[in-house]
Amino acid sequence: MRRTVHVVGAGLAGLAAAVRLAARGIAVVVHEAAGAAGGRCRSYHDPLLDMMIDNGNHLLLSGNRAALSYLEVIGSTSGLAGPPAADFAFMDLASGERWRLRINSGRLPWWIFDHNRRVPGTTVADYLSFARLLYAPREKTVCAAVECAGPLYERLARPLWVAALNTDPKEASAALAGAILRETLGAGGKACRPLIARDGLSPVFIDPALRFLGQHCARSLSPTIRSRSLILATIGWRAATMM
Ligand SMILES: Cc1cc2nc3c(=O)[nH]c(=O)nc-3n(C[C@H](O)[C@H](O)[C@H](O)COP(=O)(O)OP(=O)(O)OC[C@H]3O[C@@H](n4cnc5c(N)ncnc54)[C@H](O)[C@@H]3O)c2cc1C
Repeated sequence: MRRTVHVVGAGLAGLAAAVRLAARGIAVVVHEAAGAAGGRCRSYHDPLLDMMIDNGNHLLLSGNRAALSYLEVIGSTSGLAGPPAADFAFMDLASGERWRLRINSGRLPWWIFDHNRRVPGTTVADYLSFARLLYAPREKTVCAAVECAGPLYERLARPLWVAALNTDPKEASAALAGAILRETLGAGGKACRPLIARDGLSPVFIDPALRFLGQHCARSLSPTIRSRSLILATIGWRAATMM
């Protein structure tokens, strides 16, 4: 008997799971409660502007292997755009001070030895202390594993952890921070290039996934979720509202 996997939610996580399953020839049904797929990462029509806009800026670092492999499978990698190097302009809104963080592309982090490339007011030892996050146990928070004070924390680490973990570093998992470091700063500037969806979030992250699923799961639906949910049909991705 052929199995069908039901995925609840057509956000990036649900779509990524569905795409993986469909690529293996497994029948998938994706259930979505909202009127459109994409969840927190999508484009929508704004009636006031009368144009498609994204729900917010989304920045992907080039070392994010899971996201990039998802885009590769759905054939959308070319929709990403970004500068050739990891070169970030910073401005401290309180003092007006500006600086640039320029991470050299290879794994050997010689940028931390160059005061023109690193955060002003920081030392090489500050950056080396990041290594403690790479081996931090699961139960530790970021601030229990590394010092959460000083110029490196205020000017780089804190904004990075808040953006990437969506949690205050006093509560955020050190192990997760370590995983991010391993894929980005620890892998060199090649893995830290900022990438954005050039033509919008849905055209790059969502619509190609729906097309991929439509092409790979030729099986009609037998909806099982009787909540107010939208079923994205595997055949042609026709949408039907279920009560
Ligand atoms: C403004 C903004 C900026 C962001 N910037 C970045 C960024 O720069 N870089 C980055 O990596 N991330 C960023 N994020 C975070 C990123 O968008 C999310 O982490 C990601 O989209 C979450 O995907 P998800 O599938 O886990 O959850 P969601 O996107 O929340 O998807 C969950 C889906 O499940 C549906 N659902 C829930 N319950 C049910 C149910 N019972 N039945 C059917 N459907 C259900 C919901 O309607 C939704 O569509 C940003 C988010 C926002 C809002």
